[in-house]
Amino acid sequence: MSDAKAVEAALARYDSEKGKHLEDLIRLTRIPGVSFDGFDPAEVERSAVCTKGILEAAGFENVELMRIPGTHPYVYGDWLKRPGAPTVLLYAHHDVQPPMREEVWKSPAFEPTERDGRLFARGIADDKAGVLIHAASVASWLRTAGTLPVNVKVIIEGEEEIGSTHLGAFLEKYKERLRADTVVLTDCSNFDTGVPSLTTTLRGLISMDVTVTGLDHPLHSGMWGGPIPDPVQGLAKILAKLSDDNGRPAVPGILDDVKAPSAAEMEDYRKLGMTDAEFRKQAGIEPGVKLFAKDEGLLTRMWREPSISVNSIQAGGKKIAGNVIMDAAWARVGLRLVPNMDHAKATRMLKEFIENNCPWGLKVEVVPEQGANPWMTRPDHPVFAVAKQSLGRGYGRDAVLIGCGGTIPFVDSFTRVLGNIPALLVGIEDPYTNAHSENESLGLADFHAAVRSQIHFFADLAAASAADAGFWGGKKDLGRT
Ligand SMILES: [Zn+2]
Repeated sequence: MSDAKAVEAALARYDSEKGKHLEDLIRLTRIPGVSFDGFDPAEVERSAVCTKGILEAAGFENVELMRIPGTHPYVYGDWLKRPGAPTVLLYAHHDVQPPMREEVWKSPAFEPTERDGRLFARGIADDKAGVLIHAASVASWLRTAGTLPVNVKVIIEGEEEIGSTHLGAFLEKYKERLRADTVVLTDCSNFDTGVPSLTTTLRGLISMDVTVTGLDHPLHSGMWGGPIPDPVQGLAKILAKLSDDNGRPAVPGILDDVKAPSAAEMEDYRKLGMTDAEFRKQAGIEPGVKLFAKDEGLLTRMWREPSISVNSIQAGGKKIAGNVIMDAAWARVGLRLVPNMDHAKATRMLKEFIENNCPWGLKVEVVPEQGANPWMTRPDHPVFAVAKQSLGRGYGRDAVLIGCGGTIPFVDSFTRVLGNIPALLVGIEDPYTNAHSENESLGLADFHAAVRSQIHFFADLAAASAADAGFWGGKKDLGRT
């Protein structure tokens, strides 16, 4: 069979079996594998076992659960029967975010439900679709040609949503087995529905718990109110100081390390044609609410500037609200970092700022979580051109280069440990996916296009690599700045 015929056969096979692959996706998504503390870890274990079964059925070999003490299992598999051909490492994660507010879901969070060409469920796009893209693309080749054009390894993580805390230990233990020429991370977003995209920058993230305490128990606000500072307003004053009038983080010096986008990057962002109206529609912003930037400036603010959010806040509760002065108030604060910022330095600065701005002698305790650095790559390795070509073929539309405001802690550590191999960040989310929020959904047309792209990619990469003796040499100067 010629190369072109083999690709056609694999694509046709996927087309005839896509219903079965979707059934696997639905089966996997029904498992509520939330990796956060306070959720049943047995469900993440079940999700790992289900993932293992899907990879085995697809034809991956040596499929196993990989474990590091103290965290949820990773799932590994490989197919390495093409000596001399490049080795591609495929990444996705099987753990999911908590479902948040049950009453806001239009259909049950863990019962995938189709509406208007999208499947709604927690984790279906982030990132269980990634698992199935890897399984379906490999299965479609092995069930037709009986072989793959390249070698593949697959790693499906179980703790991505809690910041990949044990990744360092994991890589230390398994880095030899994970060695590859390039990595495809299927956990990102397309610029818009139907627009295939390669992500070249990621923001980093630091988060901290802030607790303000003033009393050893709540007090009657009538009998005691007046002379006593209110811890809830104390916390509110701290939080109000975190940003300036234009929404930028107001911690002194926090912007000093920010690396501005190059002229070429600004031009890439401008060409994407973002408008205020489109942005408002995608994000679901109420009329009258101000935006802190305009047009392509919106993208620069999201991708190339740090941003601060109060993720959650608590003092008493709506159902038990009484006429009291609360004893304490709590908030979780998150700061997204951009290229050239360092998570340890930013954590120190934000923590000190909060501690120094607590009013009235109230007690403030700040507990930072594990931080993650930002990441960027220069897409000048020839593997990027191959990926753009394959995405174009799979989606029937030219691929674009974009940034991403989100964080994948895995990418920075992983590409560095594996010798700064080129990282292709693709994915199946779009602006309407609502990942991490309620009513998360997967666009089915894009899911099928993503599988088709990856079927092409295996063949396109093998061909480009075979045609150019210098393909893997000399240009591996990627990695973080
Ligand atoms: Zn994800």
